[in-house]
Amino acid sequence: MYLYNSATRRKEEFVPNHPDIVKMYTCGPTVYHFAHIGNLRSYLMEDVLEKFLRYEGYNVKRVMNITDVGHLSSDADTGEDKMLKGAKRENKSVMDIARFYTDAFFDDCRKLNIKRPDVVEPATSCIGEYIKVITKLLDTGYAYQAGGNVYFDTSKLERYYIFNDHDAEDLAVGVREGVEEDTNKRSKNDFVLWFTQSKFEDQALKWDSPWGVGYPGWHIECSGISMKHLGEDLDIHCGGIDNAFPHHTNEIAQSESYLGHKWCNFWMHVLHLNTPDGKMSKSKGEFLTVSLLEEKGYNPLAYRFFCLQSHYRKSLAFTWENLDNAQGAYNKLLARIAALTPGEGGIDQAVFDAQKEKFRKALGNDLNTSLGVTALYDVLKAPANDETKLALLGDFDTVLGLRLLEKAAAKREADAKVRASASASGDIVITGEGDPAIDALVLQRAQAKKAKNFAEADRIREELKAQGIEIVDTKEGASWKRV
Ligand code: AMP
Ligand code: ZN
Repeated sequence: MYLYNSATRRKEEFVPNHPDIVKMYTCGPTVYHFAHIGNLRSYLMEDVLEKFLRYEGYNVKRVMNITDVGHLSSDADTGEDKMLKGAKRENKSVMDIARFYTDAFFDDCRKLNIKRPDVVEPATSCIGEYIKVITKLLDTGYAYQAGGNVYFDTSKLERYYIFNDHDAEDLAVGVREGVEEDTNKRSKNDFVLWFTQSKFEDQALKWDSPWGVGYPGWHIECSGISMKHLGEDLDIHCGGIDNAFPHHTNEIAQSESYLGHKWCNFWMHVLHLNTPDGKMSKSKGEFLTVSLLEEKGYNPLAYRFFCLQSHYRKSLAFTWENLDNAQGAYNKLLARIAALTPGEGGIDQAVFDAQKEKFRKALGNDLNTSLGVTALYDVLKAPANDETKLALLGDFDTVLGLRLLEKAAAKREADAKVRASASASGDIVITGEGDPAIDALVLQRAQAKKAKNFAEADRIREELKAQGIEIVDTKEGASWKRV
């Protein structure tokens, strides 16, 4: 399996440090608000990576933090604590906000079929770990105290910029927007390991430490939590591209200075989901959440399908039209799978193996999910019996996570009911683009028409029209299409 490594800027063969386990760490959400679908693109692609590693037979241990303290408005340690901001906005305590948005995050993940990592650790529960690391960094001269805070001294490193081939715009994420200069820092890239109350009088969460009552910086959280659960080395560390600098750069600086050796082999960064007017954000324009997609009638799995159609190392443009197309394609795919008959013929092993090899090659080439999706269509077209096709689709979907067999089986059942009911009522509903709810409404309208209840028939036609559905009456019955 080959994976692009941001640290070396090359596609490299993935070989884990230990034969019996792949240690994977993911930067988790800052739980001061709902995740937007951009954040979720990152988690979704990381989920595909984890699923593919397991598919390839690796035993994966994946750890994710929940940032519930220390992440300031600017990634470069200035501005207000995001959690405090969320608590003020909603007039609740920081812990209430953290609990609420952590649950909301995992609800979204469930809807997108993103597996929960093996270990999920809130940053506030590992204070002892950070104190241990910071104490050693101070003892060994990698950190200094100034103005009540403890800073990492980046001048002590031979090489600080690890990911510096990123766009100037990405590199500037942490240091832009007229951020005020922290005069305690010896140099601009130095970053806070421990804040004391001298900086934020109204900091809600604080802990005792050898350097005074205070709270940890955001970067130290991921190093501390990773080392607590995964030990002194790591195979893959993931995050969105904006995490590369300064967050991941600082994680490497402090972890390797603390350990005295290399820490993590592979760095996987997911490029951003952008809106037509720029990077997606929680403060700008329409705040795109999974719930909003659902309110607008989208299936969250259609968003998963949308993300899988593009490569994680390319930025992805979000428009409603693009999502419409993805939802249409996803529904059509389900309809085609629903049309396969389970239990028809035994599995043709030669076809199975050949198709599977193609899928493994696609995903094994730096997680080429769009080719992985193409492999689904290749299976549908393959000269094979339905049983073999269903087995392959189910197999690929353990990685793609589109719930293909489950959704197709539900559709098959619903279609059968509609057909039975249609033939019982004498109407024939020609299933349109594969949506049981719409099929049912089309049938209701046909039945109303037959009973000469034209007002009801018109009402249903209007209701469907509002959803962008046009009914087409034919001699055989009724059909429908999206317009
Ligand atoms: P946060 O909750 O702000 O800590 O971000 C959670 C994750 O989402 C991080 O891995 C970010 O790098 C990632 N992220 C932020 N914005 C986007 C975006 N527009 N597209 C994809 N990933 C993003
Ligand atoms: Zn992190």
